[in-house]
Amino acid sequence: MNTSTSSSLPSIAVLATGGTIAGAAVDVMNTSGYQAGVVGVDQLLAAVPALSTVVRIAPDQVASVDSKDMAMPLWTTLAQRINTLLAADDIDGVVVTHGTDTLEETAHLLHLTIRSDKPVVLTAAMRPSSALSADGPLNLVNAVIVAGHARSRGQGVLVAFNNRIHSARDVVKTSTYAVDAFQSPEIGVLGWVQDGRVEFQREVVRPHTLTSAFSIGATWPHVEVVTSYAGVSRIAVDALVGAGVRGIVVAGTGNGSIHTTLQQALTDAASQGVAVVRSSRVGSGHVMRNGAAADDALGFVTAGSLNPYKARVLLMLALATGESSAAGLQKIFDTY
Ligand code: ASP
Repeated sequence: MNTSTSSSLPSIAVLATGGTIAGAAVDVMNTSGYQAGVVGVDQLLAAVPALSTVVRIAPDQVASVDSKDMAMPLWTTLAQRINTLLAADDIDGVVVTHGTDTLEETAHLLHLTIRSDKPVVLTAAMRPSSALSADGPLNLVNAVIVAGHARSRGQGVLVAFNNRIHSARDVVKTSTYAVDAFQSPEIGVLGWVQDGRVEFQREVVRPHTLTSAFSIGATWPHVEVVTSYAGVSRIAVDALVGAGVRGIVVAGTGNGSIHTTLQQALTDAASQGVAVVRSSRVGSGHVMRNGAAADDALGFVTAGSLNPYKARVLLMLALATGESSAAGLQKIFDTY
């Protein structure tokens, strides 16, 4: 039982952006044909009255979107709002409720652009709020508890989901339907949260938040993702170069290998000044430099263990600093 007085409880801002956690369907059996982002933050919080015994909550409805439609202007708003909140003495941490579809991208972006060591924790749900055994309420309680916990400070942006705590850099969605939808492949979780108890089992070693060199600017360099597969053509890459993209991340096969046709198109793109980052569509592991492609000769950069979508986030932030050389970008990917 929590015996703290309300003023001694941590003060957590809950920023709602939409998603299935704020979704509702017409009947309790429906877990796929519902509308995301229709339940407001006050209603989400009202569903878990126990929250007021563990933290003081400051609710904030930042957006109400299905996260499949996440876009850069909302990223800018969200990061700036979090940075402003965390600069205030009366806020101890932030929880962001989000859709699961692009949560790993938003989490990585915030991990690299939030200027505070106070906890920022994203959470979500796989089942809408109206469903039988909806997972949102417990995920929300756990996220708030993690955000109010002293050990969460300085760990970068965290994702609390299904009792597990992940680093924003490593976490990915790995199931279309299961409540255990998020994993940190290869690396594993940072820790867990259960029944009000939080335990961390490892630390984040790469730079983030206060030690990150990146910040949210007014502009977002245009970066797109293409995939390599049997029989792929060069049409998409040529169209992107024609449209003036600054960067292309390729989701290669295996160890970031690329079909000869696509590789020629990407080599041509790199020779015209487009940053080309080699990642993998496999879902775990890392891409070795000068392994499946001669990166030094072709002017490519390798993404290491970042999946294509997380690599795209880092490439946009890196290009926004003015860095565009393959060597300079590779240093950034090797560091972050
Ligand atoms: N399409 C939803 C979203 O990402 C899925 C979810 O939240 O689980 O907003």
